[in-house]
Amino acid sequence: MAEKKRPSWDEYFLKLAMLASERATCPRMHCGCVLVKDRFVLSTGYNGSLPGQPHCEDVGCLIVDNHCVRTNHAEINALVQAARHGVNTVGATAYITNMSCTTCAKALIAAGIKRVVVFSDFHDTLATQFYNQSGVEIVKMDMPETQIHYDLKNYSSAKKTEKSK
Ligand SMILES: [Zn+2]
Ligand SMILES: [Zn+2]
Repeated sequence: MAEKKRPSWDEYFLKLAMLASERATCPRMHCGCVLVKDRFVLSTGYNGSLPGQPHCEDVGCLIVDNHCVRTNHAEINALVQAARHGVNTVGATAYITNMSCTTCAKALIAAGIKRVVVFSDFHDTLATQFYNQSGVEIVKMDMPETQIHYDLKNYSSAKKTEKSK
């Protein structure tokens, strides 16, 4: 078994963002976002269609100017989930799998996000400029390990059931 390394908080929340991205529905891009304050997860999001609308992976993308516009991006969906549940995002950190587009950067800034942690390369957008001008700290990390260490063998509480074997 590979040596297990306990993840730092930033690695842990980035891994949660990676997990959220598994729910994305646009084949052109899978993004995840987790909003965290005081090590408390406020909300999660991934890029996906509006509630009740068809998914890109089922009906194809909706391309305008070479971008798929069918989905809300992960950052927007995380903010929207917080809004729907009355959660205050001021002062929170946004963990995102892909550097924001300009629109999402502006939304995160306006929602009071103070720190952004990301592992992807930066794209040719105005996101970095807006973050810098608004005093949002950008932390670029290496991609966390993609493996989840869930030790079924050694912890009796996590034994597989007949059904999950
Ligand atoms: Zn799409
Ligand atoms: Zn975006």
